[in-house]
Amino acid sequence: MKVGVPTEVKTDEYRVALTPAGARELADAGHEVLVQHGAGEGSAISDADYAAQGASIVPDADAVFAQAEMIVKVKEPQPEEVARLRPHHLLFTYLHLAPAPALTRGLMASGATCIAYETVEDARGRLPLLAPMSEVAGKIATQAGAFMLEKPLGGRGILLGGVPGVAAANVMVIGGGVVGMRAALIAIGMEATVFVFDRNIDRLRELDSEFGGRADTCFATTLAIEERLPEIDLVIGAVLVHGAKAPHVITRRQLTLMKPGAVLVDVSIDQGGCFETSRPTTHTDPTYEVDGITHYCVANMPGAVPITSTHALTNATMPYVVQLANDGVVRAVQDNPGLKPGVNVVAGKVTYAPVADAVGVPY
Ligand code: NAD
Repeated sequence: MKVGVPTEVKTDEYRVALTPAGARELADAGHEVLVQHGAGEGSAISDADYAAQGASIVPDADAVFAQAEMIVKVKEPQPEEVARLRPHHLLFTYLHLAPAPALTRGLMASGATCIAYETVEDARGRLPLLAPMSEVAGKIATQAGAFMLEKPLGGRGILLGGVPGVAAANVMVIGGGVVGMRAALIAIGMEATVFVFDRNIDRLRELDSEFGGRADTCFATTLAIEERLPEIDLVIGAVLVHGAKAPHVITRRQLTLMKPGAVLVDVSIDQGGCFETSRPTTHTDPTYEVDGITHYCVANMPGAVPITSTHALTNATMPYVVQLANDGVVRAVQDNPGLKPGVNVVAGKVTYAPVADAVGVPY
């Protein structure tokens, strides 16, 4: 199969979907790898690094899409990329379609087969292609939140870990999955006082054991969140209902319960955001304020640390890329049932129920 790797074009996105190691695996399996000139630059990978492992370098995105059968990307296709998709293409990338009706309709109109990294499952129903980026985003969430709490940046002016004789800041993490656990572990490491809220009691048990008493676990009811909010300096929103639009766990009215200058970090923004007042931001302009509360809602947080993120992502995606190239989508899905929920759009139809429900198209 001809596998194409375009340069990412989303604002402030520096990751690339394949490393030279991946190019080597594909080339050794007899596939042709077409990498857009400069695609790896943001991740400190040169054209020569790819060429040395058997990839061909092509001049621009038009050439990648014109020649390749499978397109491997990182972020959801931007409008100019959707326009290049054709019915014979297999697109493998993050899509996050539930909060994106225009993109969903664009992919339907393209006729392409579109597999979303974030809804591929493993044998235990976990999300193996979301997890590595969630690990990165969780760690960034606490770093970014701590920074935005600084007074010159509009924050309350409190140091996350406090100092001897002065109390630490209070951090609330809502959603204790992959993002939430990493965010909490960094907050614990920075010596903040940490509360992790989740609706899954088994998950709270696991977290309780992982934290060994260094953070409190809390069942996430509206009342429990409201009761804790007045003392919180930093909230990290990290809830996920697989493939669906994020539920709102803090409303605009509840912002009035918070201290002025407190910070909300909405990691779930790629699924539409878990705070009512969230809207997507970029690394260049990451925050805005609503009712005295700083909002940080960057939709591609791992894109800021591409040297870490590209390798973490491709370690997870590469076996799937090789399987899809070797077997084609039909046989790959038969042999690897976890790929099936990844298939979101085929030949003009949405094939994944949570997206169809959210976007309002037939399933
Ligand atoms: P996960 O499935 O591992 O964890 C989600 C957790 O949320 C689960 O433990 C679940 O029980 C909990 N939850 C669901 N509904 C809840 C509710 N109403 N109240 C409290 N808890 C609730 O997911 P994850 O991998 O940690 O991802 C979390 C979110 O972060 C996803 O939307 C993901 O797409 C997003 N993400 C964003 C970025 C970014 O750059 N912004 C990067 C990576 C991941």
